[in-house]
Amino acid sequence: MSYCEVLRIGHRPERDKRITTHVALTARAFGASRISFHRADSRILDTVSDVCKKFGGDFKIETTSNPKRFLKDWPGKIIHLTMFGISIDEEVDKIKELPEPLLFVVGAEKVPPWVFELSDYNIAIGNQPHSEVAALSVALSKIYGNVYNQNFEGGEVKVIPSSERRNMVDTSDS
Ligand code: SAM
Repeated sequence: MSYCEVLRIGHRPERDKRITTHVALTARAFGASRISFHRADSRILDTVSDVCKKFGGDFKIETTSNPKRFLKDWPGKIIHLTMFGISIDEEVDKIKELPEPLLFVVGAEKVPPWVFELSDYNIAIGNQPHSEVAALSVALSKIYGNVYNQNFEGGEVKVIPSSERRNMVDTSDS
């Protein structure tokens, strides 16, 4: 998978903790290298860092106080996921050919107009409202394939797939 990152706009610490955590875990599990989110929230940093330590990989999580500047400074193409955009099915072949790094932007509540303007692509996963977690997972799968099957090295545990029970092995000594 090519290098890509995620920017989560508009995190509201008092109500978005769980969904922003899920956006971050989805970004990691679906192959992104880093997530940046607007407004610091140490609880999310701690939760995601704990998952990375336990399950491996070198996913990074950071905060930005100025997401507009973040978009302006981004060195590659920007893909904003929005129900108001053009269908991913129309643009996916073009997006697959873009050079890295790509930045995927997801919102929380209403996204300001400058996000649309500073993005190279405003892309919809259907034109119905749903969730930033769903939008990100579908977009990354459509563009990069089955990246959710990747291996994460260096964790403390590894899941042993089972059709019957929860099974993990301790890998911290190996
Ligand atoms: N009505 C809101 C708006 O003005 O964008 C939807 C907010 S939704 C709860 C939060 C985020 O989920 C959006 O900013 C967008 O990134 C993502 N999202 C929701 N539905 C989507 C869709 N159909 N296609 C792409 N992204 C979507």
